[in-house]
Amino acid sequence: MMDTVLQAMDLKRYFQVQRGLFRPAAEVKALNGVSFSLQQGRTLAVVGESGCGKSTLARQLTLIDTPTSGTLIVDGQNVAQASASQRKAMRNKVQMVFQNPYGSLNPRSKISRQLSDPLQRNFALTAKECEERVRTMMTKVGLRPEHADRYPHMFSGGQRQRIAIARAMILNPKIVIADEPTSALDVSIQAQVLNLFMDLQQEFSTSYVFISHNLSVVEHVAHDVMVMYLGRVVEMSRKEDLYQRPLHPYTRVLLSATPSINPAERRIKIEVKGELPSPLHPPSGCAFHKRCPFATELCRQQEPQLRPIDGSQVACHHIETIPL
Ligand code: SF4
Repeated sequence: MMDTVLQAMDLKRYFQVQRGLFRPAAEVKALNGVSFSLQQGRTLAVVGESGCGKSTLARQLTLIDTPTSGTLIVDGQNVAQASASQRKAMRNKVQMVFQNPYGSLNPRSKISRQLSDPLQRNFALTAKECEERVRTMMTKVGLRPEHADRYPHMFSGGQRQRIAIARAMILNPKIVIADEPTSALDVSIQAQVLNLFMDLQQEFSTSYVFISHNLSVVEHVAHDVMVMYLGRVVEMSRKEDLYQRPLHPYTRVLLSATPSINPAERRIKIEVKGELPSPLHPPSGCAFHKRCPFATELCRQQEPQLRPIDGSQVACHHIETIPL
């Protein structure tokens, strides 16, 4: 039985948005009751269009932001409303890799310094021990340790992302949250960086939450996939199930828009109308009803809850009768 390293229960994050001097503030439900768990050594991919809440979720998981309500258990400890000292203590358990490695590295600091600083802050190590760990980690991520005295601009984009991954992994975290970690890289480099994530997971048994809009990337790295729409989870499945038989109409739309994946060829293609609605004015009932060709009066009035269907979890009133 694998250990659960991360568990979210009914996690919510609402924001107040000012709409002008004389109008009352509006509330945006960026995360609206998200629940999931993540086991040690596994990768949960979170997918959806921009505005679906996946980056807000990443900010809750890395304790950058505090949820409005709900429970967030990291390595056995509820951190949803964590104090500053609890957050600090959690830093070496949850690390983050961002989309833009250049933006997340200090341009004026040598790589050796950027990798050893977090070590010195979190562990009682001598300078020599730090240096050794830095060299070892550089090798593990495919960088040459003799380049430790170089600055970020002296590396390519792919190498800089390797540095960012080394900085996240050097603290031996339980969980790494990777927010679109390959989308700023050349396609030829993306596969190498994804393989690096997977090699490191094999070696250290790290758990990943992998946030991506790219379903080809997700297919490569994920064990489980969570599909989000306007702050809610609409489908949660094992990767193989999701790619072979996507159930929720929105999942099927996402997959049929991805060129290298073709389950839609074996299924009835779903055409959707319109754009993602504004989170300021989410539709009533099922948030997808204005775009869904199967919507009924029930969908317009009542919000569907996630429920088990064939080993997956799906939030749709009519999943049993929608043609596959
Ligand atoms: Fe479509 Fe209704 Fe299912 Fe929502 S609940 S996805 S509107 S059929």
